[in-house]
Amino acid sequence: MYDYDLVVVGSANADLVIGVERRPAAGETVLGSDLAVHPGGKGANQAVAAARLGARTALVARVGEDPHGRLLLDSLSSAGVDTSAVAAGRAPTGVALITVDPSGDNSIVVSPGANGRLTPGDARAAERVLRSAPVVSAQLEIPLETVTEAVRLLAPGTRFVLNPSPPRELPAELLEACDPLIVNEHEARVIAGDGTLGDGPEEWARALLALGPRSVVVTLGAGGAVTAEADGGVTRVPSVTVDAVDTTGAGDAFTAALAWRLGLGESLPVAAGYAARVGAAAVTREGAQASYPTAEEVAAL
Ligand code: ADP
Repeated sequence: MYDYDLVVVGSANADLVIGVERRPAAGETVLGSDLAVHPGGKGANQAVAAARLGARTALVARVGEDPHGRLLLDSLSSAGVDTSAVAAGRAPTGVALITVDPSGDNSIVVSPGANGRLTPGDARAAERVLRSAPVVSAQLEIPLETVTEAVRLLAPGTRFVLNPSPPRELPAELLEACDPLIVNEHEARVIAGDGTLGDGPEEWARALLALGPRSVVVTLGAGGAVTAEADGGVTRVPSVTVDAVDTTGAGDAFTAALAWRLGLGESLPVAAGYAARVGAAAVTREGAQASYPTAEEVAAL
């Protein structure tokens, strides 16, 4: 009935990573390792994670007409993501300039580039794709008005999943569309605005639910997650114990897996349990997209 299992609206970035002994202070120059270039951006990460699991996935995004844009299109295509709604041009591909020191601490400068030029008009141009899946997911590395326009274009009954990252206060129209709103602790605090979240993740989830979303998921890293639904109560979702190597992109894999499983008809706690296994698998390997598991690898956890 649907062309896709999941449509993702969001960002695509080239991550430019240099290892350094010490991150530079103002005015300082330091020598670092060879440059590593990885495909990234929360939208592209979510799309690749879902496709790797076997979901028929399309991405609505914008890249530049440049080598970084081609790198991203190649990595999306080789994961099996439909890129027919990835527009090109208007600005260079978004990049994240990342320096990492030996302790793993990093400093990051993001140039949104083409992601910042993904307009409400681009969302309207992708209307057919946005109406071709039971679930549409988004994040906030693209203009807020584009995310809002995508929500307005959804077919009745299409489920909307939002990870508001990087976080900002959300208009009521967007909050009320989320089913679920997926946040970590930091995002929960920014969305709640005034710090009245209460003690512990169950309380945070209830407080966020009171702001209007149809459901809420709070992710807790190695602590798993908590789900909350207006009529279904609050559920603690255990994590899977693994040797964590690199948590980059775990939240994106979690969101993608959750959105996909909801579209298959699973309940929110069951889908979150599956997503927790996908997130756990993703932290056992280096990188973001390179760390994402197949369905067979998730089953073997
Ligand atoms: P974010 O990257 O958005 O802050 P989290 O770090 O909470 O998101 O990770 C998302 C999900 O991935 C978690 O809810 C959990 O299920 C899984 N996960 C993350 N880190 C670990 C870990 N160290 N061990 C097991 N599971 C993890």
